[in-house]
Amino acid sequence: MPGVENDAPRDLLIDGRLVRPTGARTFEVENPATAAVAGTAPDADPADARSAVTAARRAFDETDWSTDVELRVRVLRQLDAALREHRDELAELTTTEVGAPRASCATIQVDAPLDIVTWFADLAETYEYRRDLGVRDTLGGPARRWVEQVPVGVVAAITPWNVPNQINLAKVVPALAAGCTVVLKPAPETPWTGLALGRIAAEHTDLPAGVLNVVTAADKAFGQLLTTDPAVDLISFTGSTATGTRVMEAAAANLTRVFLELGGKSVHLVLDDVADMGTAAAHAAFGTATVAGQGCALTTRVLLPRARYDEGLESIASMMSALSVGDPRDPGTVMGPLISRAQLERVDGYVRGALDGGARVVCGGQRIPDLPGWFYAPTLLADVDNSMAAAREEIFGPVLVAIPFDDDEDAVRIANDSDYGLSGAVFADDRDRALAVARRIRTGTMSVNGGVWYGPDVPFGGFKRSGMGREMGVEGFEEHLETRAFAEPA
Ligand code: ADP
Repeated sequence: MPGVENDAPRDLLIDGRLVRPTGARTFEVENPATAAVAGTAPDADPADARSAVTAARRAFDETDWSTDVELRVRVLRQLDAALREHRDELAELTTTEVGAPRASCATIQVDAPLDIVTWFADLAETYEYRRDLGVRDTLGGPARRWVEQVPVGVVAAITPWNVPNQINLAKVVPALAAGCTVVLKPAPETPWTGLALGRIAAEHTDLPAGVLNVVTAADKAFGQLLTTDPAVDLISFTGSTATGTRVMEAAAANLTRVFLELGGKSVHLVLDDVADMGTAAAHAAFGTATVAGQGCALTTRVLLPRARYDEGLESIASMMSALSVGDPRDPGTVMGPLISRAQLERVDGYVRGALDGGARVVCGGQRIPDLPGWFYAPTLLADVDNSMAAAREEIFGPVLVAIPFDDDEDAVRIANDSDYGLSGAVFADDRDRALAVARRIRTGTMSVNGGVWYGPDVPFGGFKRSGMGREMGVEGFEEHLETRAFAEPA
């Protein structure tokens, strides 16, 4: 990719300085759309992880970042302006390292997440950090009591490769807004967007040294240096449920707080009164293609009324087959590649497994042969039983499994018969019926008749093995606060 090697960020951000890693090592970053090496990123040493945490600890304990709301709001407003100025650079890096289509950079990959910054600056400015509890007769006589919300401390933010700008910002910004200090560790597949965030913050804002640190490393185990560090107060993790479980185990040793945003296997449920199957089907098809299916909150099980099963399959398949898949730099491209060969093989393995188990391919079902990168055709699998691995496990690829149901009761049962509880969608012409069904599905977010819940003010997170806690929204801000209670004689 011409230009990217020279423009790609090369420095870690530690204690306010843009630095090369201690060992001066780098690792290669692949462009998944071409399967070619696109450049390199700094490969941090364990010593760099330690320095980053130490800097964040010192910045929290010894500067007035945690108490100076006005400073935080000013820095976030500067960050918002600087990120918007560097929007094209962020989009370029995202397209290269994620394989994200240009069109998705105008939405979920770059532009939409930028709105997080101002929203949290406004919230930090207006939030009631103190709540009066009034006077009450206590064991020691009448007392005036109140509650104060204070930042939790040093946050280790560990992020995945699928929507790096979104997740980096959804972790870093609320933490900074609340008065925490942060060590951000992006995924090794997508180091550049996180490093660029660090560089932009360092060069274009009054962020005090050590408040934000960004470290990247090739070794997956690098994250453990952060999750086991007793100087970390909160681990904010987004990734697979398997890794999230390991993060929680590591956190248990120090009783470190965790926020976990993990996997999903969400349903796209079409009730039998839907007159316009085409709209419901279009949402299902586009949902599968978003981020090439590599999104935890995407709907990956479509539940169709048995009497309308064939109609639904046909409608979804015709839309999926028409999706434009290919070069992410082409403005008309809707779906780009998977992140890596390993991911492509994993996705194909699930499809083969489902076919062995009796499922059938309605469309897709294979790698796209003429494209150089890791492209997999948007795939619809029919005759899938909810007990199959393809219906239970997160595939993280453009694969939608279709399951028929008998009535609303059966649909709710299948929807909730999942280890996950992240998101979902219900379509019905009768709004009350749609809402009643949506409320019975135990997930953190639900779309009703195509409504989009995503936004900086909307808390996002899951039930069950989809994790714990909420990201963004007031709830996401409060994940970064500790409650303190005070009393004095009245
Ligand atoms: P994937 O399997 O797609 O790489 P993961 O959930 O393993 O997804 O990775 C999400 C993030 O967690 C990445 O930044 C990764 O480097 C990091 N990570 C991987 N293993 C661990 C671990 N044991 N402890 C902390 N972070 C980890």
